[in-house]
Amino acid sequence: MKIGGFVKTTLSDWDGKVSCMIFLSGCNFSCPYCHNPDIARGACEGEDERKIMEYIEENSDFLEGVVISGGEPTLDRDLYRLLKEIKKAGLRIKMDTNGSSPEVLDDVIGARLVDYVAMDVKAPLSPDRYMTATGGYCDVKAIGKSIRTIMDSGTEYEFRTTVYPGVLSHDDVTDIARSLRGAERFCIQQFRPKVTLDPEAGKVKPYSVKELRAMHDSAKPYVKRVSVRGL
Ligand code: SF4
Repeated sequence: MKIGGFVKTTLSDWDGKVSCMIFLSGCNFSCPYCHNPDIARGACEGEDERKIMEYIEENSDFLEGVVISGGEPTLDRDLYRLLKEIKKAGLRIKMDTNGSSPEVLDDVIGARLVDYVAMDVKAPLSPDRYMTATGGYCDVKAIGKSIRTIMDSGTEYEFRTTVYPGVLSHDDVTDIARSLRGAERFCIQQFRPKVTLDPEAGKVKPYSVKELRAMHDSAKPYVKRVSVRGL
């Protein structure tokens, strides 16, 4: 298992729940605005899984959950084992995903190994738009399948889109919301230019609060709950 990072306590990654966070290293996307470039490239690993599990077991009364992020967690062959061990410790699990592995999502949701799924929807669902937003990934059928799997699962979830102005316009965000019609929750996330996978992306000015609010209003007719994160 390639664990690229571990945060003992966070309140900001699962609706204010006291959680710890495990970052699995490696990703099959290369989003230019990615703010975890070393983990996405798989350049980080070596966190001690045994010590992390000891921490989780020792703090299972204090922690409300464990967030599994990346990179892309569904690529790790040892994901099931990790999820099972955390469940054995009695904790709820949120998993972040880019939605490229609908079969893995179906399996872990079906086995009740995750309690909340946060899936990125990177662009309107057309191969060329997806390719631009992810630096090369264009299997939008898999993305569509993941969206349906999650929406039909009965598990709590959110879809989320980082609005990087270098790739996404206001109308694109509306298109994405339209493709999520009837979903419970859609988060529009502010782009953070501090550290980016593509250094050029770090020079792009984020959208203003006013523009993000306008995107929120345009998305509202399609999704039950829309929020803006990272203002
Ligand atoms: S932002 Fe893109 S490249 Fe970075 S971890 Fe997420 S899916 Fe991978």
